[in-house]
Amino acid sequence: MEKKGWFDWYFKTNLLMRIFIGLVLGAVVGISLASVGGDTAVKVNGWIAPFGTAFIRLLQMIIVPTILFTLIIGTASISPNRLGKVGVKTLLYYAVTSVFAVIIGLIFAMVTKPGVGINLITENTAAKEAVKTTASSIILNVSPTNMFDAMNRGSVLQIIFFALLIGLALAFLREAKDERINKAAATVFTFFEGMVEIIFIIVRWVMQYAPIGVFALLVNVFALNGSKVVGPLIGVTVILYIALAVQLIFVYGGFLAVNKLNVFTFIKKARDPMLTAFVTRSSGGTLPISLRTAENMGISRGVYSFSLPLGSTINMDGTTIYEAICVMFIANAIGAPLDLGQMIMVVLTAVLAAIGTAGVPGAGAIMLLLVLESVGLKVEAGSAVAAAYAMILGIDALLDMGRTCMNVTGDVTGALVVAKSENEFDRAKYDAFDGTNA
Ligand code: ASP
Repeated sequence: MEKKGWFDWYFKTNLLMRIFIGLVLGAVVGISLASVGGDTAVKVNGWIAPFGTAFIRLLQMIIVPTILFTLIIGTASISPNRLGKVGVKTLLYYAVTSVFAVIIGLIFAMVTKPGVGINLITENTAAKEAVKTTASSIILNVSPTNMFDAMNRGSVLQIIFFALLIGLALAFLREAKDERINKAAATVFTFFEGMVEIIFIIVRWVMQYAPIGVFALLVNVFALNGSKVVGPLIGVTVILYIALAVQLIFVYGGFLAVNKLNVFTFIKKARDPMLTAFVTRSSGGTLPISLRTAENMGISRGVYSFSLPLGSTINMDGTTIYEAICVMFIANAIGAPLDLGQMIMVVLTAVLAAIGTAGVPGAGAIMLLLVLESVGLKVEAGSAVAAAYAMILGIDALLDMGRTCMNVTGDVTGALVVAKSENEFDRAKYDAFDGTNA
């Protein structure tokens, strides 16, 4: 007979479900405390709050190693040998669609102003002092003068820059003719790959604690702010989904139209990977389905076998849009709306953070921490930023479904567009395919 552990009820319940329960319970307890008020409420809140603080500290702990290792591996995985015409076109398509994505996200957030007026109250308002930046200082500061100092300060853009350089250099060395160098590069690559796996496990452990952390953080948010924060959360979800739809219809639709393909017909044919991504919330997990669909769509193997696996790790337009909207939501919610310099910073870091986002459920929420840090909104225990971040985390599953769906759709569109431009596309096969993967 299987041994029953004390916490089976906890660990055997689906994680998403637990986080959601944490969110709801946190809201209920918080609102009750707000209505009771007085000393008791302060006392109870003071007792629960450290559980939230612990969660935030665990998240902070994994930010720097996550960026460093995932970006190195992400970049080093692109073989310079394959960077022929197909590679360059694919990367160009990724870059263009990502920039559109972040701009769409920012414009939507600027127009709809999610989170404005909540004025989240916390005990510690220090985090409101967001760093003011200028465009030229951002560009100059991209290069760290001392990498270890950059890591020490948690300077996100500088770490990203350094990681990209290491990744790129590693990608070249892996193809080196000299056997000694080649071997050394392979070892380093394996090492970083191992580190990525280690970080993933730690993230998974931290996420096991997330339901409790989210509960504690939300008790605090609701105890201090009452129920006025529910509407804005629904708002941010709706805004994200509309922005994702705009990316699909206009950006991907535009690329398809240039290639004389209709976006709605495309959606019908790509529905399997789109739906799989929506329910699994994992680009990586959806890859086998995307590959199959690409084959049945008449895209040549030479194109999709390169671009789909690459896209599932580095091309994340849905995540980019999500980062842009959520950063604006959090900045607005704490009453420190972003200025122009900070928005430029978001464009840079959201695109790069998406490259470093693993194609697994919830990865984008960890990367959101890094985009926040880059504009001076540090998720620190007890800060308003942490409270606003916890609100987003509470509904992250819902947001993740939409963004993952768009991440995968962007990959399949990219494979199709590049294949078409390279005459590696069988139009008759595409027309005959009805979306049912045999
Ligand atoms: N879940 C997303 C994906 O697999 C990544 C993210 O969390 O943004 O594409």
